[in-house]
Amino acid sequence: MDKKDFLESFPDKLLCVEHAELIRMHATSGTSGHRPTCGFYTRNDLETWEYLCARNLGAIGMTKNDVFQNTTSAGLFTGGFGYSQGCTRLGAMLIPFGPGNTARQLEFFQAFKVTSFHAIPSFGLRLAEVMEEEEIKKEDLFLKYAILGAEGWAESTRDTIEARLGIKAHDNYGLTEACGPGVSVECQEQDGMHLWTDHFYPEIIDPKTGEVLGEGETGELVLTSLWKEALPIFRYRTGDMTSLYKSECPCGRTGYMISRIKGRKDDMKIIKGVNIYPSMIEEEIFNLSEYFSDIFLIVYHTVGVYDQVSVNVEIREGVNQAKAKQELEKNLREATFIRIEVNTFPKGTLPRQEGKAIRVKDLRDRPEGYKGWLKQMNKKSNS
Ligand code: ADP
Ligand code: ZN
Repeated sequence: MDKKDFLESFPDKLLCVEHAELIRMHATSGTSGHRPTCGFYTRNDLETWEYLCARNLGAIGMTKNDVFQNTTSAGLFTGGFGYSQGCTRLGAMLIPFGPGNTARQLEFFQAFKVTSFHAIPSFGLRLAEVMEEEEIKKEDLFLKYAILGAEGWAESTRDTIEARLGIKAHDNYGLTEACGPGVSVECQEQDGMHLWTDHFYPEIIDPKTGEVLGEGETGELVLTSLWKEALPIFRYRTGDMTSLYKSECPCGRTGYMISRIKGRKDDMKIIKGVNIYPSMIEEEIFNLSEYFSDIFLIVYHTVGVYDQVSVNVEIREGVNQAKAKQELEKNLREATFIRIEVNTFPKGTLPRQEGKAIRVKDLRDRPEGYKGWLKQMNKKSNS
Protein backbone atom coordinates (compact mmCIF):
# COMPACT_ATOMS: atom_id res chain seq x y z
CA MET A 1 0.00 0.00 0.00
CA ASP A 2 1.01 3.60 -0.40
CA LYS A 3 -0.34 7.11 0.10
CA LYS A 4 -2.25 6.83 -3.18
CA ASP A 5 -4.40 4.03 -1.75
CA PHE A 6 -5.48 6.36 1.04
CA LEU A 7 -6.13 9.30 -1.24
CA GLU A 8 -8.04 7.26 -3.85
CA SER A 9 -10.18 5.52 -1.25
CA PHE A 10 -11.17 8.82 0.35
CA PRO A 11 -13.06 9.11 2.59
CA ASP A 12 -13.64 5.57 3.91
CA LYS A 13 -13.38 2.92 1.19
CA LEU A 14 -10.46 1.18 2.92
CA LEU A 15 -12.48 0.38 6.03
CA CYS A 16 -12.43 -3.26 7.17
CA VAL A 17 -15.23 -3.06 9.76
CA GLU A 18 -18.85 -1.93 9.84
CA HIS A 19 -19.38 1.76 10.51
CA ALA A 20 -21.06 0.96 13.80
CA GLU A 21 -17.76 -0.43 15.12
CA LEU A 22 -15.94 2.87 14.65
CA ILE A 23 -15.60 5.20 17.60
CA ARG A 24 -13.08 7.79 16.32
CA MET A 25 -11.43 9.26 13.28
CA HIS A 26 -8.40 11.53 12.88
CA ALA A 27 -6.88 13.07 9.77
CA THR A 28 -3.58 14.52 8.61
CA SER A 29 -2.90 18.18 8.22
CA GLY A 30 -2.31 17.33 4.56
CA THR A 31 1.36 18.40 4.48
CA SER A 32 1.73 16.09 1.51
CA GLY A 33 -1.24 15.47 -0.80
CA HIS A 34 -4.32 17.68 -1.04
CA ARG A 35 -6.95 15.46 0.48
CA PRO A 36 -6.53 14.66 4.16
CA THR A 37 -5.41 11.12 4.96
CA CYS A 38 -7.87 9.63 7.42
CA GLY A 39 -7.31 7.22 10.28
CA PHE A 40 -10.23 5.28 11.82
CA TYR A 41 -10.38 3.49 15.17
CA THR A 42 -12.51 0.77 16.71
CA ARG A 43 -12.63 0.53 20.51
CA ASN A 44 -9.80 -2.01 20.49
CA ASP A 45 -7.77 0.19 18.15
CA LEU A 46 -8.19 3.17 20.42
CA GLU A 47 -7.21 1.25 23.54
CA THR A 48 -4.09 -0.18 21.94
CA TRP A 49 -3.12 3.21 20.54
CA GLU A 50 -3.53 4.75 23.98
CA TYR A 51 -1.31 2.01 25.39
CA LEU A 52 1.39 2.56 22.72
CA CYS A 53 1.45 6.30 23.47
CA ALA A 54 1.76 5.54 27.19
CA ARG A 55 4.62 3.21 26.31
CA ASN A 56 6.37 6.04 24.44
CA LEU A 57 6.04 8.34 27.44
CA GLY A 58 7.30 5.61 29.77
CA ALA A 59 10.32 5.08 27.51
CA ILE A 60 11.48 8.68 27.91
CA GLY A 61 11.38 8.17 31.67
CA MET A 62 7.98 9.60 32.59
CA THR A 63 6.06 8.22 35.57
CA LYS A 64 2.83 9.06 37.37
CA ASN A 65 4.75 11.70 39.34
CA ASP A 66 5.16 13.86 36.25
CA VAL A 67 3.12 16.85 35.12
CA PHE A 68 2.75 16.75 31.33
CA GLN A 69 1.69 19.65 29.13
CA ASN A 70 0.49 18.78 25.66
CA THR A 71 1.23 21.79 23.42
CA THR A 72 -0.42 20.30 20.33
CA SER A 73 -4.03 20.53 19.28
CA ALA A 74 -6.50 17.89 20.45
CA GLY A 75 -8.26 18.11 17.11
CA LEU A 76 -7.80 16.10 13.95
CA PHE A 77 -4.01 15.93 14.49
CA THR A 78 -3.22 12.54 16.08
CA GLY A 79 -0.45 13.91 18.31
CA GLY A 80 -2.85 15.89 20.47
CA PHE A 81 -5.33 13.18 21.43
CA GLY A 82 -2.68 10.47 21.20
CA TYR A 83 -0.39 11.83 23.87
CA SER A 84 -3.19 13.19 26.04
CA GLN A 85 -4.71 9.68 26.17
CA GLY A 86 -1.27 8.11 26.65
CA CYS A 87 -0.49 10.42 29.55
CA THR A 88 -3.81 9.61 31.19
CA ARG A 89 -3.15 5.90 30.78
CA LEU A 90 0.32 6.32 32.32
CA GLY A 91 -1.18 8.19 35.26
CA ALA A 92 0.80 11.45 35.03
CA MET A 93 -1.11 14.71 35.37
CA LEU A 94 -2.20 16.01 31.99
CA ILE A 95 -2.49 19.68 31.02
CA PRO A 96 -4.13 19.60 27.56
CA PHE A 97 -3.08 23.15 26.73
CA GLY A 98 -3.20 22.94 22.92
CA PRO A 99 -1.09 24.97 20.49
CA GLY A 100 0.13 28.56 20.41
CA ASN A 101 -0.07 31.22 23.12
CA THR A 102 3.59 30.63 23.93
CA ALA A 103 3.99 33.12 26.79
CA ARG A 104 0.95 31.66 28.57
CA GLN A 105 2.28 28.12 28.04
CA LEU A 106 5.44 29.21 29.85
CA GLU A 107 3.37 30.71 32.69
CA PHE A 108 1.68 27.32 33.05
CA PHE A 109 5.08 25.60 33.06
CA GLN A 110 6.02 27.69 36.07
CA ALA A 111 2.70 27.77 37.96
CA PHE A 112 1.95 24.04 37.71
CA LYS A 113 5.55 22.86 37.95
CA VAL A 114 5.35 21.13 34.56
CA THR A 115 8.08 18.48 34.22
CA SER A 116 7.47 17.27 30.66
CA PHE A 117 5.75 18.31 27.48
CA HIS A 118 4.87 17.19 23.97
CA ALA A 119 5.48 19.53 21.06
CA ILE A 120 6.47 19.68 17.44
CA PRO A 121 10.16 20.65 17.29
CA SER A 122 9.51 24.07 15.75
CA PHE A 123 7.31 24.90 18.75
CA GLY A 124 10.09 23.72 21.06
CA LEU A 125 12.25 26.38 19.40
CA ARG A 126 9.47 28.93 19.74
CA LEU A 127 9.30 28.24 23.48
CA ALA A 128 13.04 28.90 23.70
CA GLU A 129 12.66 32.12 21.69
CA VAL A 130 9.89 33.47 23.92
CA MET A 131 11.83 32.49 27.07
CA GLU A 132 14.61 34.71 25.79
CA GLU A 133 12.21 37.59 25.07
CA GLU A 134 10.49 37.27 28.45
CA GLU A 135 13.80 36.76 30.24
CA ILE A 136 12.74 33.45 31.71
CA LYS A 137 15.72 31.33 32.68
CA LYS A 138 15.70 27.55 32.43
CA GLU A 139 16.33 27.48 36.20
CA ASP A 140 12.92 29.17 36.67
CA LEU A 141 11.27 26.07 35.18
CA PHE A 142 10.83 22.50 36.49
CA LEU A 143 11.15 20.77 33.13
CA LYS A 144 13.02 17.48 32.81
CA TYR A 145 12.12 16.04 29.43
CA ALA A 146 10.04 16.50 26.31
CA ILE A 147 8.77 14.30 23.51
CA LEU A 148 9.08 15.95 20.11
CA GLY A 149 8.20 14.84 16.62
CA ALA A 150 5.69 14.96 13.75
CA GLU A 151 8.17 16.87 11.57
CA GLY A 152 11.81 16.54 10.67
CA TRP A 153 14.37 18.15 12.96
CA ALA A 154 18.16 18.22 12.96
CA GLU A 155 20.45 17.09 15.77
CA SER A 156 21.49 20.71 16.20
CA THR A 157 17.84 21.66 16.80
CA ARG A 158 17.81 19.14 19.61
CA ASP A 159 20.98 20.68 21.08
CA THR A 160 19.43 24.16 20.99
CA ILE A 161 16.18 23.04 22.64
CA GLU A 162 17.96 20.98 25.28
CA ALA A 163 20.40 23.75 26.18
CA ARG A 164 17.87 26.57 26.30
CA LEU A 165 15.09 24.72 28.12
CA GLY A 166 17.32 22.57 30.31
CA ILE A 167 15.70 19.29 29.24
CA LYS A 168 16.28 16.01 27.47
CA ALA A 169 14.45 16.19 24.13
CA HIS A 170 13.33 12.80 22.78
CA ASP A 171 12.48 12.15 19.15
CA ASN A 172 9.38 10.15 18.25
CA TYR A 173 8.05 9.16 14.88
CA GLY A 174 4.57 8.17 13.81
CA LEU A 175 2.03 8.82 11.09
CA THR A 176 -1.74 8.96 10.84
CA GLU A 177 -1.92 5.92 8.54
CA ALA A 178 -0.25 3.79 11.25
CA CYS A 179 -2.31 5.24 14.17
CA GLY A 180 -0.45 8.48 14.88
CA PRO A 181 2.30 8.60 17.52
CA GLY A 182 3.05 5.31 19.24
CA VAL A 183 5.08 3.73 16.45
CA SER A 184 8.57 4.53 17.73
CA VAL A 185 10.41 6.63 20.30
CA GLU A 186 13.87 7.35 21.65
CA CYS A 187 14.50 5.89 25.10
CA GLN A 188 16.69 7.59 27.70
CA GLU A 189 19.78 6.66 25.69
CA GLN A 190 18.62 9.07 22.91
CA ASP A 191 20.41 7.01 20.30
CA GLY A 192 17.93 5.88 17.64
CA MET A 193 14.22 5.12 18.04
CA HIS A 194 12.79 1.85 19.32
CA LEU A 195 10.15 0.75 16.85
CA TRP A 196 7.39 -1.26 18.55
CA THR A 197 7.93 -4.44 16.56
CA ASP A 198 5.31 -6.35 18.55
CA HIS A 199 2.74 -4.08 16.86
CA PHE A 200 4.36 -3.14 13.55
CA TYR A 201 6.38 -5.26 11.14
CA PRO A 202 8.98 -2.95 9.56
CA GLU A 203 10.91 -3.24 6.30
CA ILE A 204 13.23 -0.86 4.44
CA ILE A 205 13.07 -0.71 0.67
CA ASP A 206 14.84 1.07 -2.14
CA PRO A 207 12.28 3.79 -3.00
CA LYS A 208 13.01 3.48 -6.72
CA THR A 209 13.06 -0.29 -7.26
CA GLY A 210 11.03 -1.50 -4.26
CA GLU A 211 13.79 -4.00 -3.41
CA VAL A 212 14.06 -4.87 0.30
CA LEU A 213 17.32 -3.50 1.73
CA GLY A 214 19.57 -4.95 4.40
CA GLU A 215 20.06 -3.95 8.02
CA GLY A 216 21.47 -0.47 8.47
CA GLU A 217 20.88 0.59 4.86
CA THR A 218 19.00 3.83 4.25
CA GLY A 219 15.75 3.59 2.35
CA GLU A 220 12.00 4.01 2.60
CA LEU A 221 10.31 2.67 5.73
CA VAL A 222 7.50 0.19 5.06
CA LEU A 223 5.13 -0.79 7.87
CA THR A 224 2.59 -3.55 8.41
CA SER A 225 0.24 -3.17 11.39
CA LEU A 226 -0.21 -6.36 13.43
CA TRP A 227 -3.13 -5.14 15.52
CA LYS A 228 -5.37 -2.67 13.75
CA GLU A 229 -9.01 -3.56 13.08
CA ALA A 230 -10.62 -0.58 11.38
CA LEU A 231 -7.95 0.19 8.81
CA PRO A 232 -4.97 -2.15 8.90
CA ILE A 233 -1.95 -1.21 6.82
CA PHE A 234 -0.18 -3.89 4.83
CA ARG A 235 3.37 -3.24 3.62
CA TYR A 236 2.57 0.46 3.66
CA ARG A 237 5.14 2.72 2.03
CA THR A 238 5.50 5.58 4.48
CA GLY A 239 7.57 7.77 2.13
CA ASP A 240 9.95 8.40 5.06
CA MET A 241 13.65 7.72 4.71
CA THR A 242 15.54 5.98 7.52
CA SER A 243 17.46 2.79 8.33
CA LEU A 244 16.45 -0.23 10.39
CA TYR A 245 18.70 -2.29 12.68
CA LYS A 246 18.48 -4.81 15.50
CA SER A 247 18.44 -3.21 18.94
CA GLU A 248 21.51 -3.61 21.11
CA CYS A 249 20.39 -0.66 23.19
CA PRO A 250 21.82 -0.55 26.74
CA CYS A 251 18.28 0.16 28.02
CA GLY A 252 17.52 -3.54 27.47
CA ARG A 253 14.70 -3.14 24.97
CA THR A 254 14.99 -5.77 22.25
CA GLY A 255 13.40 -5.75 18.80
CA TYR A 256 14.35 -3.30 16.09
CA MET A 257 15.30 0.36 15.98
CA ILE A 258 15.18 3.06 13.32
CA SER A 259 17.59 5.94 12.93
CA ARG A 260 16.47 9.56 12.85
CA ILE A 261 14.14 10.21 9.91
CA LYS A 262 16.25 11.74 7.14
CA GLY A 263 13.21 13.30 5.49
CA ARG A 264 10.28 12.38 3.28
CA LYS A 265 11.41 10.89 0.01
CA ASP A 266 9.65 13.83 -1.75
CA ASP A 267 11.65 16.32 0.36
CA MET A 268 14.87 14.99 -1.04
CA LYS A 269 15.76 16.99 -4.13
CA ILE A 270 18.50 16.21 -6.57
CA ILE A 271 20.21 19.49 -7.35
CA LYS A 272 23.20 19.42 -9.70
CA GLY A 273 23.43 15.70 -9.07
CA VAL A 274 23.57 16.06 -5.29
CA ASN A 275 20.90 14.67 -2.94
CA ILE A 276 19.77 17.54 -0.75
CA TYR A 277 17.64 17.02 2.37
CA PRO A 278 16.28 20.06 4.24
CA SER A 279 17.88 18.71 7.44
CA MET A 280 21.38 19.16 5.93
CA ILE A 281 20.72 22.88 5.50
CA GLU A 282 19.00 23.21 8.88
CA GLU A 283 22.06 21.70 10.56
CA GLU A 284 24.34 24.42 9.17
CA ILE A 285 21.98 27.27 10.10
CA PHE A 286 21.72 26.03 13.66
CA ASN A 287 25.47 25.66 13.96
CA LEU A 288 25.60 29.44 13.46
CA SER A 289 22.82 30.25 15.91
CA GLU A 290 24.81 33.21 17.24
CA TYR A 291 24.05 34.87 13.85
CA PHE A 292 20.65 33.51 12.87
CA SER A 293 17.24 32.92 14.46
CA ASP A 294 15.61 29.48 14.30
CA ILE A 295 13.26 30.43 11.46
CA PHE A 296 14.32 29.75 7.88
CA LEU A 297 12.94 28.83 4.47
CA ILE A 298 14.63 26.77 1.79
CA VAL A 299 13.65 27.71 -1.76
CA TYR A 300 14.24 25.60 -4.85
CA HIS A 301 14.04 27.58 -8.05
CA THR A 302 15.22 27.61 -11.64
CA VAL A 303 17.75 29.98 -13.15
CA GLY A 304 17.83 29.49 -16.90
CA VAL A 305 17.88 25.73 -17.18
CA TYR A 306 19.56 25.06 -13.85
CA ASP A 307 17.95 24.15 -10.57
CA GLN A 308 19.20 26.22 -7.66
CA VAL A 309 18.74 26.21 -3.92
CA SER A 310 18.68 29.31 -1.82
CA VAL A 311 17.87 29.79 1.80
CA ASN A 312 16.21 32.68 3.60
CA VAL A 313 17.37 33.25 7.15
CA GLU A 314 16.71 35.81 9.85
CA ILE A 315 19.68 37.67 11.19
CA ARG A 316 20.00 38.56 14.87
CA GLU A 317 20.37 42.20 15.93
CA GLY A 318 23.88 43.61 15.91
CA VAL A 319 25.29 40.85 13.69
CA ASN A 320 27.45 41.80 10.68
CA GLN A 321 25.19 40.74 7.82
CA ALA A 322 27.86 40.31 5.15
CA LYS A 323 30.06 38.21 7.42
CA ALA A 324 27.18 35.99 8.55
CA LYS A 325 26.00 35.44 4.98
CA GLN A 326 29.50 34.63 3.78
CA GLU A 327 30.16 32.17 6.58
CA LEU A 328 26.87 30.30 6.12
CA GLU A 329 27.39 30.12 2.35
CA LYS A 330 30.85 28.67 2.92
CA ASN A 331 29.60 26.06 5.41
CA LEU A 332 26.71 25.08 3.14
CA ARG A 333 29.12 24.61 0.27
CA GLU A 334 31.34 22.37 2.35
CA ALA A 335 28.37 20.34 3.61
CA THR A 336 26.54 19.88 0.29
CA PHE A 337 29.19 20.45 -2.41
CA ILE A 338 26.93 22.90 -4.22
CA ARG A 339 26.55 26.66 -4.03
CA ILE A 340 23.56 27.72 -1.97
CA GLU A 341 22.71 31.40 -1.92
CA VAL A 342 21.83 32.90 1.46
CA ASN A 343 19.30 35.77 1.68
CA THR A 344 19.16 37.56 5.00
CA PHE A 345 16.10 39.17 6.58
CA PRO A 346 15.72 41.04 9.88
CA LYS A 347 14.73 38.92 12.91
CA GLY A 348 10.97 38.44 13.24
CA THR A 349 10.13 39.04 9.56
CA LEU A 350 9.91 35.54 8.06
CA PRO A 351 6.47 33.93 8.47
CA ARG A 352 5.85 31.69 11.50
CA GLN A 353 3.35 28.80 11.45
CA GLU A 354 1.27 27.57 14.32
CA GLY A 355 1.27 23.93 13.18
CA LYS A 356 4.06 22.05 11.45
CA ALA A 357 6.66 24.44 10.11
CA ILE A 358 6.79 25.06 6.35
CA ARG A 359 10.50 25.11 5.58
CA VAL A 360 10.66 24.24 1.93
CA LYS A 361 9.21 26.00 -1.08
CA ASP A 362 9.64 24.51 -4.53
CA LEU A 363 9.25 27.13 -7.26
CA ARG A 364 11.11 25.18 -9.92
CA ASP A 365 8.23 24.95 -12.36
CA ARG A 366 7.68 28.70 -12.14
CA PRO A 367 10.72 30.52 -13.55
CA GLU A 368 9.24 33.95 -12.83
CA GLY A 369 7.85 32.81 -9.49
CA TYR A 370 11.05 33.15 -7.53
CA LYS A 371 11.91 36.75 -8.39
CA GLY A 372 8.38 37.97 -7.79
CA TRP A 373 8.18 36.08 -4.57
CA LEU A 374 11.54 37.38 -3.31
CA LYS A 375 10.49 40.94 -4.14
CA GLN A 376 7.30 40.44 -2.17
CA MET A 377 9.27 39.09 0.82
CA ASN A 378 11.63 42.08 0.70
CA LYS A 379 8.73 44.52 0.55
CA LYS A 380 7.14 42.86 3.57
CA SER A 381 10.33 42.92 5.61
CA ASN A 382 11.01 46.60 4.78
CA SER A 383 7.54 47.75 5.76
P1 ADP B 1 1.10 15.05 7.38
O1 ADP B 1 2.34 15.65 7.97
O2 ADP B 1 1.30 14.46 6.02
O3 ADP B 1 -0.04 15.97 7.46
P2 ADP B 1 0.90 13.25 9.72
O4 ADP B 1 0.45 14.29 10.70
O5 ADP B 1 0.32 11.91 9.80
O6 ADP B 1 0.69 13.77 8.24
O7 ADP B 1 2.48 13.18 9.85
C1 ADP B 1 3.23 12.05 9.54
C2 ADP B 1 4.49 12.43 8.83
O8 ADP B 1 5.23 13.39 9.60
C3 ADP B 1 5.42 11.26 8.67
O9 ADP B 1 5.10 10.49 7.53
C4 ADP B 1 6.77 11.95 8.56
O10 ADP B 1 6.99 12.41 7.24
C5 ADP B 1 6.62 13.15 9.47
N1 ADP B 1 7.19 12.85 10.81
C6 ADP B 1 6.55 12.41 11.90
N2 ADP B 1 7.38 12.24 12.95
C7 ADP B 1 8.61 12.61 12.51
C8 ADP B 1 9.91 12.66 13.11
N3 ADP B 1 10.12 12.33 14.39
N4 ADP B 1 10.95 13.05 12.33
C9 ADP B 1 10.76 13.38 11.04
N5 ADP B 1 9.56 13.38 10.42
C10 ADP B 1 8.49 12.98 11.14
ZN1 ZN C 1 16.86 2.00 24.40
